[in-house]
Amino acid sequence: MHKKLFIPGPIEIHPDILAAMATPMIGHRMKEYAELHGRVTAGLKKVMFTEEKVFLATSSAFGVMEGAVRNLVGTRCANFCNGAFSDKWHDVTLRCGKQADAFRFDWGKPVTPEAVEQALSTGKYDSMTMIHNETSTGVMSPLPEIAEVMRKFPDVVFIVDTVSSMSALKVPVDELGIDSCIFGVQKAFALPPGLTVFTASEKALQRAAGMEGRGYYFDYVEFASNDAKNNTPSTPCISLIYAMDKQLERIFAEGLESRWARHADLADYVRGWVTSRGFELFPETGYCSQTLTCSRNSRGIDLASLKKQLGEAGFAFDDGYGKIKGDTFRIAHMGDMTQTDIDGLLNAITAIMPELA
Ligand SMILES: *Cc1c(COP(=O)(O)O)cnc(C)c1O
Repeated sequence: MHKKLFIPGPIEIHPDILAAMATPMIGHRMKEYAELHGRVTAGLKKVMFTEEKVFLATSSAFGVMEGAVRNLVGTRCANFCNGAFSDKWHDVTLRCGKQADAFRFDWGKPVTPEAVEQALSTGKYDSMTMIHNETSTGVMSPLPEIAEVMRKFPDVVFIVDTVSSMSALKVPVDELGIDSCIFGVQKAFALPPGLTVFTASEKALQRAAGMEGRGYYFDYVEFASNDAKNNTPSTPCISLIYAMDKQLERIFAEGLESRWARHADLADYVRGWVTSRGFELFPETGYCSQTLTCSRNSRGIDLASLKKQLGEAGFAFDDGYGKIKGDTFRIAHMGDMTQTDIDGLLNAITAIMPELA
């Protein structure tokens, strides 16, 4: 039996997307691919509000998160860490042999503009990484306010992971001055995993061009020269790019504004359900994610048993990530989900635990 996914990634995939993946194969050096590539990157530019380069990498998000470090971190990187994925990005930065410092926030707290300003004012850094929406804690950091601070540091390359936020709310990449915005498609975009989209500003491309040891597979300069021909450096996951083409068509048919509003409504709805049942939200007030709700297990329910029983009823449920596993649970409300889908899960929960009805 298929368990319907309510975990924060991968996300449940619409049947039209799965069908698009069965499109017969083409060669990536054929003109049919160039047409597909051109159409998909043009659509992505609209979703991301960018006129800079948009590249397609055949990889999970961490491939490009590592690639960004190899291409864009010169002297020293400031990694802002407020959860498992951002902690890992610091680790990855060090593993690439780069100089880097972690600026840590307690889990549940956002990255703050004040901390960014303080760190970068030291003049020690030529690059910074942060995660817009920390999927491990359900915290969304105040990206517009941080972007405002970043304007004071034009020499620092601004690298942002939007894996679990892109398309669920407006993230205008150029207006925010993001030099490289990265997202894997299996979360907010609701595609199967294996494709990662990333942008590169002029500043990012210049930085990359002078960088030693940027490798080949995620070389921003290689991506730029291939993109000029609507192509990729190596064979891409063409089936997933067909899926992206279909998803962009679906996103524009719904309308970006409606998509953002649907996500905002679902987020309110799930938070309301959780808090009205006596659970406390894990994120600091005001910084809850628009795409998933991370809740403390304030009522001390047996999450492992709930997860198991939900699984038997056909629902994949998440009982926390990393060091807060078991103390929290997360409900995803991203991608193509509707309130009917969410109600399906919530009704299944109350059927198992009537005390939560
Ligand atoms: C899931 C996730 C990642 C890791 O993505 P992979 O595709 O597994 O490499 C990175 N950042 C965020 C915010 C995520 O949610």
